[in-house]
Amino acid sequence: MKLKDKVAIITGSASGIGEATAIRFAADGAKVVVCDVNQAGVDRVVADLVATGAVAAGFVVDVTNKESIVAMVDAVKAQFGRIDILVNNAGITQDAQLYKMTDDQFDRVIDINLKGVYNCTKAVVDTMIEQNSGVILNASSVVGVYGNFGQTNYAATKFGVIGFVKTWAKELGKKGIRANAVCPGFVATPMVKAMPEKVLQGMEEKVPMKRLAQPSEIASVYAFLASDDASYINGAAIEVTGGLTL
Ligand code: NAD
Repeated sequence: MKLKDKVAIITGSASGIGEATAIRFAADGAKVVVCDVNQAGVDRVVADLVATGAVAAGFVVDVTNKESIVAMVDAVKAQFGRIDILVNNAGITQDAQLYKMTDDQFDRVIDINLKGVYNCTKAVVDTMIEQNSGVILNASSVVGVYGNFGQTNYAATKFGVIGFVKTWAKELGKKGIRANAVCPGFVATPMVKAMPEKVLQGMEEKVPMKRLAQPSEIASVYAFLASDDASYINGAAIEVTGGLTL
């Protein structure tokens, strides 16, 4: 119960790593705020959490829409009185090599994966400063450390959210707020499982452990970073790759 009574907002938590993080945080005692553009997914995850006896609330939020984020933050503060943890997990891919990438593809990925992280963090940071405590965790990727073929837009955002946490660690550390990023390799989520079988096999082959990560194996790293066990980890980008990048 290392997150007992902590209030945690997890964006993009109707699916994949975000859903697994909501489940793990609830198991560790947190009051979990599930938010996503996917209404049916939000309802399903909240119902599943409540069925286990967890305290959970759901919101339909688009991280590109400041009004929907501010409305959620106000409602969370009214219901729970504080915000201890923000996991900026919502993210998409729209891949194409640079010479084929459209401006719409570029802008959409920047809006959700980079500006969305800025929007959500801006909306909670004053509350965390008032509390003199808080944890901000950003979903980066190995692509945010090494780049990747066909991912100009995605790589820019995943490098960018590491830049955010290194900056916020410097700005907010003295206010009791820690900021870190998690950089997964290949994770078996809907985003990845939609790929052709041959591509999936190729991914597994590249990993020394010869398998993809389960979403729960990324969620456990978020849970550690959100807990007081990580009380001196600030401004870090933690690679969770099964050795992929060695
Ligand atoms: P996923 O597609 O399973 O889940 C992403 C969730 O974000 C979805 O529920 C989706 O509805 C939500 N979302 C999309 N746009 C949104 C918006 N505008 N506002 C609010 N919610 C929105 O993806 P996943 O694989 O679980 O990925 C989660 C995060 O982890 C992403 O940031 C992704 O880039 C990162 N990541 C994933 C992998 C991987 O292998 N799956 C690897 C490295 C990093």
